[in-house]
Amino acid sequence: MDARTEEIAANLEAVRERISNACRAAGREPDTVTLVAITKTYPAEDVARLAALGVHDVGENRDQEAAPKAAAVPGVRWHFVGQLQRNKARSVAGYADVVHSVDSLRLVEALSEAAARSGREGPLGALVQVSLDDDDRRGGAVTGAVERVAEAITASPSLRLLGVMAVAPLDWAPDEAFGRLAAMSARIRQRFSGPHGEPDWISAGMSDDLESAILHGSTHVRVGSALLGKRTPLR
Ligand SMILES: *Cc1c(COP(=O)(O)O)cnc(C)c1O
Repeated sequence: MDARTEEIAANLEAVRERISNACRAAGREPDTVTLVAITKTYPAEDVARLAALGVHDVGENRDQEAAPKAAAVPGVRWHFVGQLQRNKARSVAGYADVVHSVDSLRLVEALSEAAARSGREGPLGALVQVSLDDDDRRGGAVTGAVERVAEAITASPSLRLLGVMAVAPLDWAPDEAFGRLAAMSARIRQRFSGPHGEPDWISAGMSDDLESAILHGSTHVRVGSALLGKRTPLR
């Protein structure tokens, strides 16, 4: 193991420990939470190191950075977690397994068409990103739009609705944010479960707030800096 791999391995062990402690506190089994490693700003070599350490779910938030890394590291599941421009839908549908940040009808349309044309084997997984404070500038569908976006996803044969995602608003207590997301998830599950399954994913929790997210039912935590180190500000 090179020094960087050792560093990541130690961080990974600490993050897994946090996840299992949070699960224990919540009365949940640790295998009900999937760790998605967010690798933005870090090189493809780090993605390969994570994969070698057993992390097979990897996420990025910008297509221009994700596309070359996905090409360089096959064999992991790629999650797209950032604000997505419609003109990038084609590219993202080519490598992503799941898009966590679907927040408008226009984006559903673009992704649906892109996924249909991409020649991919199964449907592209999609989560509705929820704007918990109804401020859509940082991404996310506002309260009244969430179910319309979910409905449009279920209507597309090339997309599969998996659940909901959110980022806790900066000035909110995480418990309040993730509690609200859990309530939204329950509504979406109840309304859109069907023969293709239940949209039961809750993508919530990052390096600083994963414990609260797990307490409120998160099934997918998106962890970057706690695994790979602090990023330079700006991004
Ligand atoms: C960067 C990012 C993360 C990871 O954040 P950390 O605080 O580094 O764990 C999670 N979700 C999204 C949408 C991100 O952009």
